[in-house]
Amino acid sequence: MSLAPLPPVERVRPGLWSIPVPIPNNPLRYVLVYAFETDGGIYIVDAGWNTDEAYDTLAAGLGALGASMTDVRGVMITHIHPDHYGLAGRVREASGAWVALHPADAALIKDRYDEPEELLERMSAAMRRYGAPAAEIDELSHASMPVRMFVTTVRPDVLLEDGDKPEVPGWDLQAIWTPGHSPGHLCFWEPRNRLMLTGDHVLPRITPNIGLHPQSGDDPLGSFLISLDKLMPYDSDEVLPAHEHRFVGLQARLAELTEHHEHRFDEVLGAIRAGHDTAWEVAGHMKWSRSWDRIEGFMRRMAVSEAMAHIRALERRGVLRAIPGEAVRYEVVVG
Ligand SMILES: [Zn+2]
Ligand SMILES: [Zn+2]
Repeated sequence: MSLAPLPPVERVRPGLWSIPVPIPNNPLRYVLVYAFETDGGIYIVDAGWNTDEAYDTLAAGLGALGASMTDVRGVMITHIHPDHYGLAGRVREASGAWVALHPADAALIKDRYDEPEELLERMSAAMRRYGAPAAEIDELSHASMPVRMFVTTVRPDVLLEDGDKPEVPGWDLQAIWTPGHSPGHLCFWEPRNRLMLTGDHVLPRITPNIGLHPQSGDDPLGSFLISLDKLMPYDSDEVLPAHEHRFVGLQARLAELTEHHEHRFDEVLGAIRAGHDTAWEVAGHMKWSRSWDRIEGFMRRMAVSEAMAHIRALERRGVLRAIPGEAVRYEVVVG
């Protein structure tokens, strides 16, 4: 486990700050919370995990710009993953701030965080369809349960749809709905400084996980690729992602991400042509950052869901066809 220090709190533009908030035991290390100063208080994009360390770090970061947690008036959440949404409830409790989410992510809260039993069953059924070995299904379907403790469930006070402008006095923020990494993922466009806040949709070095699972919608990768194109027209001076670091060159990165998935489609088709025809077998024959045997638990589930997202997108393009069975097999459509 690397113990590299967090990046510093930084002033991105006059009145706009970047505050790294730690994510425990996670290679991403931190989420970047962006804080907008206004005459009426502070408005933040994303919050962090619900740990005392994250809360204290966010409070100290706000302190560095002369504010405190009680000055927060609004929390705009890019999506409901724990590292973005988990701490929002505590921030609201401390400050009375409104919490905003896209309705498609708000709709997932109950099954995901409050009463997950049914979701666990649907996850097990999905893993069976994907061809996971019976002995691994239980572990795979429960793999995300431990992170629930890093989330305080909070219902949004404000629902932000595509094009909506959240009330941040003196700023002209606009929500852009970019489904894919999560069904209700939002980016935020700040036109005055030409800044694009991309959440997990576009990161400078890593590619966000796009998986097919019971809460992903029918074709999350198809949606993701459309959501990449959706940002192409924005002439952005700088990109403000939720992990890693800020960067210049939105269009080039969008093109790289699209290209990456076209390459992945070739890998998937290669595996299926070679007879590895369930999502499980395809995942075992794709390239990952480490060997398949060393990918376990939650990582393994993400890999299989990712393989399946590529398979589904290819099905929707008419390139693959499903052969029904307890484990679904796929074949390449010829002609
Ligand atoms: Zn995420
Ligand atoms: Zn994230």
